[in-house]
Amino acid sequence: MSTTPSVTVVGAGIVGVCSTLWLQRAGFAVTLIDSGGVGEGASFGNAGNISPGAVVPYLIPGIWREAPGWLLNPEGPLAVRPGYFLKALPWLMSAVKSAGEEAAWRTSRAMHALHGGTLDAYAELTRGTEAENLIELSGQLYVSEKPDAAQGSALSQRMRAEAGVKAVTLDFMEIRELEPALAPIFKSGLLLPNNGRCKNPHHLVKALAAIAERNGATIVRGKVTGFTTEDARVSGVLVDGNARPVQAVVIAAGAASNTMCEQLGTRVPLEAERGYHITIENPGVMPRMPVTNTDAKFACAPMNVGLRLAGTAEFAGIDAAPNWARTEVLKRQAQRMFPGVRLDSVTRWTGNRPSLPDGLPVLGRSPRYGNAYFAFGNSHFGMSAGPVMGKVIAEIAAGRAPSIDVTPFSATRFGS
Ligand SMILES: Cc1cc2nc3c(=O)[nH]c(=O)nc-3n(C[C@H](O)[C@H](O)[C@H](O)COP(=O)(O)OP(=O)(O)OC[C@H]3O[C@@H](n4cnc5c(N)ncnc54)[C@H](O)[C@@H]3O)c2cc1C
Repeated sequence: MSTTPSVTVVGAGIVGVCSTLWLQRAGFAVTLIDSGGVGEGASFGNAGNISPGAVVPYLIPGIWREAPGWLLNPEGPLAVRPGYFLKALPWLMSAVKSAGEEAAWRTSRAMHALHGGTLDAYAELTRGTEAENLIELSGQLYVSEKPDAAQGSALSQRMRAEAGVKAVTLDFMEIRELEPALAPIFKSGLLLPNNGRCKNPHHLVKALAAIAERNGATIVRGKVTGFTTEDARVSGVLVDGNARPVQAVVIAAGAASNTMCEQLGTRVPLEAERGYHITIENPGVMPRMPVTNTDAKFACAPMNVGLRLAGTAEFAGIDAAPNWARTEVLKRQAQRMFPGVRLDSVTRWTGNRPSLPDGLPVLGRSPRYGNAYFAFGNSHFGMSAGPVMGKVIAEIAAGRAPSIDVTPFSATRFGS
């Protein structure tokens, strides 16, 4: 019988595959279980922004003045399905609490700890492999049609300054020079030169999983439906109803993680915050770096399969049917931002961001079971947080002190 300690990871998205790789480096044999294909959850179709400089929370003072306008606008960035409003209400009210200045600062500092080392962590995981050239230090551009708006509020600027994030404000002409593909409608810009991009998030997750498999990981396709426990330990996972014994388990199942946490005795207010994308094959125009439209709140990303526009925060429930009208909005935005863009070949996608009301993930050991670890809930930033989260999980599982303070990511911070 093998004496190598083992860990079972549930969920083969960016967080699950990064956790697998770091766990292997820490000496564990890893089994990775997913109910679908590798990287086919939220990690499939995001905008691929890899952002060490992401230190400004979505929920900051002032957002609640703008939110009602967004909700009333069918083309706006935020939607709550009427039938889901009452269900989403407790989450939304908890999110309002997170948007005070003090709470926003706490979130900002925790984001810095999670995101600041992302490019280095990816470099360590991908060096010399087929995944290496899927990530690059490209810079990211933020643009607004309003003067002096792209850099965000004074508070946002202070948060970037405190975290040492290099940020360059741009005027109309400087935006034109940097991104000639953009329509001449943007009056203010912000360049974050030390941010990066992934050329294809799905390819990246698959490439990382292939590395893990070469290192000996077992990848199992099956749906985790529950757990067996003995005293304060998880002894098995139920995969499609069949028990598989485990020595330790990591819950990295994205927007479905709350069900598993609840089965393990911890309730977390996780919501599926749905987003949409369109990917335009052969668009005829391509920005050099990811460009975020800060007015309409969506990202335009140059991918190795075309130009991707991704955004929208829709609360409808994890299993609700998609509202494809959201992708028509993205097509109109593509025409507005990129004159001459060709929309002959467009694919569309929807995926669920795993989101907690304060915008931070849950990361660390389960409060009830000593051999269960939680790693989920990165909302808009999972591609950036994934490799650092995986590293922290491996450190804790190996009995080492985590390299970042995990207190802000406690599963019980919302009181359950
Ligand atoms: C439109 C959009 C744009 C985005 N843009 C960016 C961006 O530019 N940069 C960024 O950093 N982040 C971005 N994000 C957020 C990012 O995509 C997510 O935070 C991240 O992908 C979450 O990764 P994950 O591994 O936690 O979850 P997922 O990728 O969803 O993986 C979870 C996995 O768990 C599996 N699973 C679920 N239930 C079970 C079960 N019962 N049994 C077995 N397996 C199960 C699923 O099949 C899935 O493969 C964006 C998101 C969206 C929707």
